[in-house]
Amino acid sequence: EVILSVRDLTANVDETPILKGLNLEVKAGEIHAIMGPNGSGKSTFSKVLAGHPAYEVTGGEVIFRGQNLLEMEAEERARAGIFLAFQYPLEIPGVSNVDFLRVAYNSRRKAEGLEELDAFDFDELVHEKLDVVKMNPAFLSRSVNEGFSGGEKKRNEILQMALLEPKLAILDETDSGLDIDALKIVADGVNQLANAENAMLVITHYQRLLNYIVPDFVHVMEAGRIITSGGKELALELESRGYEWVREEEAAEV
Ligand code: ADP
Ligand code: MG
Ligand code: MG
Repeated sequence: EVILSVRDLTANVDETPILKGLNLEVKAGEIHAIMGPNGSGKSTFSKVLAGHPAYEVTGGEVIFRGQNLLEMEAEERARAGIFLAFQYPLEIPGVSNVDFLRVAYNSRRKAEGLEELDAFDFDELVHEKLDVVKMNPAFLSRSVNEGFSGGEKKRNEILQMALLEPKLAILDETDSGLDIDALKIVADGVNQLANAENAMLVITHYQRLLNYIVPDFVHVMEAGRIITSGGKELALELESRGYEWVREEEAAEV
């Protein structure tokens, strides 16, 4: 089953072209890593997929499980099973984490034609999922992300992912980087949640995350396009040789 099919995608930010003809196909059961130098458009791509309003798609197509993703609002995309981790690290004072999670979870259930879970049943479910992230239940009653450490925020995001069971999870390791503990939390979560029915898109500037998550495919992004793809060994090659040789090989082919 093809989960995501991206053809010749182009997109602008503030009228500046950033994505310049991106192609990618992701099938169920696959973990894809997108690597590439700073500024190559990796985060832009993840935001375009999630439907961030500041990013204007100017061409190409994105099909998500047979649906035209580009015609869907961000909310609809989330309900349809796209999850962008690290998108909302915002703090929401006065809203408990468990209430926030229940609203997100129930909105996904409604989209699937299922009945909402009441607070009692949801509580039971969320406690089961806490194991995935080894999170202290005390975090459920705290305000969303308020005063959470970096690692706790990551745990919370993986908990959201465990609950929502997305069909396509997109994890963008932002340039600020994660410390090694946070990396392991993210990697453990991805490894536990990846299955034959879903797909993971792991976006990273550095190879280090891929020490813990073994991707089926590695893609290199440069100037808004995927310029080369390979297996997990490509990540190691990039680590030792940098990105420059990929650019040179690509230039030689043209
Ligand atoms: P990456 O995640 O690969 O580091 P980004 O997608 O964050 O790359 O950025 C790609 C390019 O888009 C960069 O040149 C960046 O300066 C530019 N860019 C990103 N966001 C904006 C914005 N809001 N306005 C203008 N340019 C932007
Ligand atoms: Mg960047
Ligand atoms: Mg980025």
